[in-house]
Amino acid sequence: MRTITADVCVIGSGAGGALVAWEAAKLGKKTVVLERGPYMRPSEMSTAESKMIPRLYKDGGMQMSTSLDLFIMQGSCVGGSTVISNMVLMRPDAKVFSRWRGMGANVKDDVMTDAFDTIEGLLGATRREASDLSESSKLFERGARTLGYAPERMMKALGNCRACGNCNIGCTFGSKKSALATFVPWAEELGAEVLADTEVTRVRIERGRVTGVEAKCGPRREPLLVNAKKVVVAGGAIGSSAILLRSGIKKNVGTRLAFNAGAMVVAELEQSFDAFDADQMTIFLKHDEYLIEATHNPIMSTALITPGWMEEHGNLMRRAKHLAYAGAMVGTEPNGRVVMSPFFGHEETRFRASERDMARLRKGVRTIARIFLAAGAKRVLLPFEEPTYVTSEADLPVVDAKMRKLSDFQCGTSHPQGGNPMSDDPEIGAVKSNLAVHGVNGLFVCDASVFPDSVEVNPMLSVMAIAMANAQEMLAS
Ligand SMILES: Cc1cc2nc3c(=O)[nH]c(=O)nc-3n(C[C@H](O)[C@H](O)[C@H](O)COP(=O)(O)OP(=O)(O)OC[C@H]3O[C@@H](n4cnc5c(N)ncnc54)[C@H](O)[C@@H]3O)c2cc1C
Repeated sequence: MRTITADVCVIGSGAGGALVAWEAAKLGKKTVVLERGPYMRPSEMSTAESKMIPRLYKDGGMQMSTSLDLFIMQGSCVGGSTVISNMVLMRPDAKVFSRWRGMGANVKDDVMTDAFDTIEGLLGATRREASDLSESSKLFERGARTLGYAPERMMKALGNCRACGNCNIGCTFGSKKSALATFVPWAEELGAEVLADTEVTRVRIERGRVTGVEAKCGPRREPLLVNAKKVVVAGGAIGSSAILLRSGIKKNVGTRLAFNAGAMVVAELEQSFDAFDADQMTIFLKHDEYLIEATHNPIMSTALITPGWMEEHGNLMRRAKHLAYAGAMVGTEPNGRVVMSPFFGHEETRFRASERDMARLRKGVRTIARIFLAAGAKRVLLPFEEPTYVTSEADLPVVDAKMRKLSDFQCGTSHPQGGNPMSDDPEIGAVKSNLAVHGVNGLFVCDASVFPDSVEVNPMLSVMAIAMANAQEMLAS
């Protein structure tokens, strides 16, 4: 078996893993990063969705909950989900960390604020300006203001962006400040080794202390052993729980899985407009119970999220230049679980939306419909399999009537969180507040899986900030 020895072995190269690897390399530690997905440089990327989605997404973009009513999107490539992200950097409300402290996670507001400031600075994040708004975002902004809402412009780290609208299939220009363009190469410049196409099967633990990591490499799945006294699991929500479970660590592992889950609403307008004339995603509306983001996607993804079949769907897609999109997202309750399938030997994601989640989703969808109507939409298409249109506020009760459970509509998430909750209380936490796994020396988890419940906004900035806030202590000695 091929064997490598390192000071620090990081599993996963996404928002959490890449940042920790960089911090470790800065400290002069011999750092090895093991990444299941491929190393796709911008020059190897293209704007062909049908090629990029299978290459960059976990399970080729087909990951679902076991009940098959929730699509779960995650990246699987060097840079992790950041590579397919929109690089929206959003700070959570203070109430989120206060709630987490109530569950035994000692997350300090001032430390997090410093980390947010530092990361935004490192990635050159800027608030979107009027000139960045596409015609469809302007439409959403206008409708929201007509109803008295105060939509805000997003903070994003896009570098020298050409606004091609293909953020969710990578960045052929290499300008987006994903981990692939920042923390990964920064770590490599300082000597970190990144092994792509390398899937970790388990972490080795002897007498309560981590000793290394077992992995399979390349298409022939050749075995690899990394001897390391410090291992940071950063395989993302779901993935990190699976690694711990396969390694025999079970206490509270796989629990408190939550999502920002949501549905897209489509507006059809008389006039045509070019949604691709500027940044894909710039505007959001934060409500206490939901978050709305106006967006547009390349044509294949657009077709997938636009309801209808055959001729009706075709007719709608032919009018793509008349369609505007916005999604309502709800931070769900942490009812989900990651378990190992007794039949297939891989992880399963179980989740059932609560009544509270459903009520919030309905409110979010209704609000988008009202906003698009106020913006002059001819009709608004709801996220049901059977095309359902709203042409006036009087039609809105259909949302409550038809949207009772997740399987009633097309529900998806790009923001799974939790599974290895952070809490100093060993009855709740899989990891402590310093991200050390309860009961195992030298083993840490550093990614979205440590969130005790949903952060309720786009989570990447919080993942990076938690990594940054804990890196020094985690990597000391
Ligand atoms: C389409 C899309 C758009 C998004 N846009 C935004 C946005 O604009 N703003 C925002 O805040 N958030 C966004 N997100 C979410 C954000 O990207 C994630 O919350 C964040 O990257 C999570 O960081 P992480 O470190 O937990 O996991 P990831 O970044 O997902 O990284 C985990 C990595 O670990 C690897 N891995 C897993 N298991 C193993 C294993 N056994 N062995 C080796 N490697 C393994 C995976 O392949 C993956 O590369 C988006 C997500 C998606 C899917």
